[in-house]
Formats: sequence, C-alpha cells, structure tokens
Amino acid sequence: MEFGGGLLYKGEAARSLGETSYVQTVSRQYEARPLLGEPAEDGSKENPEQAAASGDKQQHASISAGKKAGNPNSTPEPENKGAGNEAKPAAAGNGNTQEGKAGAKTEGTGHNHSEKASQSNNGSSSGEDGTKLSSQTVNQPPAEPAAAAKKKVVYLTIDDGPSKHTPEVLDILKREGIKATFFALGEQVERNPDIAKRIVEEGHAIGNHTYNHKYEKLYGSFAEFAGQVMRTDDAIYAATGVRTTLLRAPGGTYANFDQGYFDALAAAGYRVHDWNVDSGDSKRRGVPSTEIIANIKKSKLADTLNVLIHDSAGHEESVKALPAIIHYYKNLGYTFEPLDDSVKPMHFQTASKSKWSRGKVTEADKAAIIKYGKELDASGVRQKSAHREPALIVHRGDATLVLEAGQYRLASGSIYVPLKDLVEWMGGAAEQDEQSGVVEASLAGKSLFWMIDTWPPSEENGSHLDVPLRSTLGEFGIDIEDYAISKDRREVWIRE
Ligand SMILES: [Zn+2]
Repeated sequence: MEFGGGLLYKGEAARSLGETSYVQTVSRQYEARPLLGEPAEDGSKENPEQAAASGDKQQHASISAGKKAGNPNSTPEPENKGAGNEAKPAAAGNGNTQEGKAGAKTEGTGHNHSEKASQSNNGSSSGEDGTKLSSQTVNQPPAEPAAAAKKKVVYLTIDDGPSKHTPEVLDILKREGIKATFFALGEQVERNPDIAKRIVEEGHAIGNHTYNHKYEKLYGSFAEFAGQVMRTDDAIYAATGVRTTLLRAPGGTYANFDQGYFDALAAAGYRVHDWNVDSGDSKRRGVPSTEIIANIKKSKLADTLNVLIHDSAGHEESVKALPAIIHYYKNLGYTFEPLDDSVKPMHFQTASKSKWSRGKVTEADKAAIIKYGKELDASGVRQKSAHREPALIVHRGDATLVLEAGQYRLASGSIYVPLKDLVEWMGGAAEQDEQSGVVEASLAGKSLFWMIDTWPPSEENGSHLDVPLRSTLGEFGIDIEDYAISKDRREVWIRE
C-alpha cells in the first residue's frame, strides 16, 4: 500500500522566516517529546477482520483448488429468473477471532512511534515528515501484520449485474462488513452506471464479464469475445474510473476457452478467474434460496474459495440467500476479500473438446486486444489493484475533509496528511519560505515551523510536506476524539 503525492508549495508567496532562532526553538520543542506517533489506544473497533493483512494476499492453493473444481458438470451460468421462496438463515455470528487479532496489529492501532525508522524501511524519501527529529524515535519492527499462516479466504464473486438487485446486495455486504467482486456486464454497466460507481466507491472490486453474455455470439469467434471485453473495459472505466484487469468468462472457461484465449488475454494483461464453489443459483430459473444455501454448504472447502453467485435481474433468491452464505463462511473462520491483481486466478482445466465449432485463435485475431491492453498498461491507468483504497474522511463538527487515496498515506500506524490542506481546512494558514524551505503553519492562535530535510527539493520529490495527523493537531492543542481505521474505512473525528 503505497501512497504518493502530497502538497506542493512551490510558487507559494514566500515569507522571510529565515531566523534560525524560530526553527531551533521549535526543533527543541519537538525533540523534547516523541510527537510523531499516532495514538496508542485501540481505535480499530470497526470490522477488525477487515483491518487484517492489508497487503498480504493469500494465493496458495488457488490453482489446485481451481483445477479440482474444473469439472465439466460445474454449472455454467445461464440467465435465469428467480422465484419466491423462504430463506432459512444459517447460523449467525462472527467466527473471525483469528482475524480480529491480526487486525489489532495493523495501522488502526498504531502503537508505533517510529515513523522515521520505518519510513526508511519502506523506502520513503527522507524529510516526508518535514522534521529532522529522528533522534527520539524508537526502533520498532514495521507495523506489518505477521504473515497470516493459515488464512482462509473467500472471494465472493457476484456476476451478471449491476442490476436493480445490486443495491440490496451492496447493503448486505456493508452490513456484514465484507468486500466482494462484481463481474459486471458492459451493457448492464451502461444501464446502471451509478450502481457500478457505488460498487467501486464502497471498496469492492469490479471485473469484466463481457458485454452481453450471449453465448452463441460471444463464443462464436475470438474477435467477438475480444471486442466485448474491450467494450466492457471502456464501459466500466467510463462509469467508475477503474481500469480493471479482472475478467470472468461467461459460463466459465471450461469448453468455452481454448489455449489461444488464455494466451491472448494474458498478453493483453487480463487475469481470468473461474470459481471453485458454485452456489447453483443459475442452474435453472428460480432456484430457491434454501437450495442455494444447501449448495454452498455441501461444496468442498479449501483455504481459498471463489464463490459464484449472481445479482442479475431475477436473482431475488440469491440476494435472500446471501446473508446466510456469508454467516456460514464467517463461522468457519473465513475472511472475505475482493479480488485484485495480486490474486492468482483459479482456472478450470482446458477441455479436450470445445463446445464451439470455431477455428483456432490466430495471431491476427489476438492482435487487437493485445494492442489495446498494452496501451492501457503503458498509459498507467490500469489499476494493479482493481479495488481502490478508501478515502480518508476527517470530521470536525459538520465539516468534513476528504482526502482520496494518494492524497494521504498510512505509515507505521500514523496517518500522514498534507499540512497545508489540513491547516487551511481548519481555518488556519500554511506558508513556506522558498529560500530556507521552512514552513510556518498557524492555527488556533499558535504558529509552528517545520524544517524540510532536503531543501531545495529535487524535481521528482517536489516540496510537499505531509505530517502525522494526530501529533500535529496535538501541537496546536487540538485532540482527535475518535477514529475508525481499517482496510476499507478511514475516518477521523476531531474534537471541536
Ligand atoms: Zn455470468
């Protein structure tokens, strides 16, 4: 999780602050107290399982699990309509004690008072905290969670939407505090762009499920398939701002893909994900929720599960079954994660015989989508991770400051924010002396100064000044009242 960016002070009206006495005074003040750490109390009260293991995707066993699942009887997903039936909820509750413990080690709890030391560990440029005060820092191990030994992960994959059912699905996921992956159809994204946007905004992954899911046409030729993938990629980007690399073949790859498909899509930068648990909600029209839940419960378990369910029109029963499905896996100690680029896809075996009577994929067939993918890669718009880091929301009374991913960063248990944004939002002012690089910030009747380690700034680093939120506010006599920091949520409440 790397946050770049920060605030540029170049071109700010310079004030003469050259008097070293100011700076020295402030420096001593800083040196007197280890100010740079974020709070020691436990603020990670929200969804502890979500705070766990932020960067540490579990990939093991996915391939073998996928291969085992790749059998010809695995139900493909026709477009079915659901019908009414009673959902019988499975055991409720939260079995995630293991993850809760792991969560307590991550950024939300921030016992770490050694930004300086840890920053150099993770390669941040010097001077990012704007002070030269490393002498007081304590050497502690980085606040990475210990490698989760036997982590059990469910990738819940929700296909064929977004539809009118998707908002309810999103509400359930929010209530359960979990993230999923939505393999969306291009035509549905165009019909429901706001819902697609909500998927991304709420921290779920969005993937490409081709444009219209119509098997005959879609699998009639690779050119058609590739065309639908590119069209959907553009539709998802237009609606959400995300260029996803996640791809799922309608009906799965078995007997639909041949090796040429895998090769071309890999060369174009897509990650094709099949599944190893089929909820069976598309076996026929109107599969009742009780049957969907029973299908889930009789499916084979593995450390990594990719669970297929649908949220397209007619899948009311799937929505009804969803809470029970989630509780079932939670009780078994699974955590739920969205797919992203770091997750090794599980594939069905390649069938010896295709369902389709098309020719082999030629190099010429592949060329268009490979060119398309390479251009996206070159332009840098493709997200390595298909789900976005959440924005940081700072509250004070009714006012909020929203910093998008990249405008703030978490490091060693601290939240770093651009000083200027923070201070100005709170009604103060921040200015930088262009000669010395010293930054003066005035807030709540107090003025403080920061020295920049590397001044003048190099071109590539710019002259931004990110400061640790809590200790900086503390210097101005302002407290943080509360916060909720997890993998999916970053909120801070400042005392009025
Ligand atoms: Zn589908």
